[in-house]
Amino acid sequence: MRKKLHPDLPAIEIIPDEEAETVDFLVCAAVPPSGKMLLADNFVGICCSCGTKVQYRWHAPRRPKRICMSCAVKQLDQTAVDDPKNSAS
Ligand SMILES: [Zn+2]
Repeated sequence: MRKKLHPDLPAIEIIPDEEAETVDFLVCAAVPPSGKMLLADNFVGICCSCGTKVQYRWHAPRRPKRICMSCAVKQLDQTAVDDPKNSAS
């Protein structure tokens, strides 16, 4: 199922929990230096790319690597560079 959260944003795909366990990354918010969590019962993990502390919900998929938002954006930028459809010709 694809769902638009805002008319100006592209639709995102909502996938079943079982399928979520098969994705490569779980994009997470960083834990701020203050240590204040977005939700008090969030779990804390480590970004697989830069090692910063990240937070995620207890019901988030377990298998995917946790990655912070900054590293996820860099990963997307690199994926776009590596995609032959985006090469200048
Ligand atoms: Zn990171």
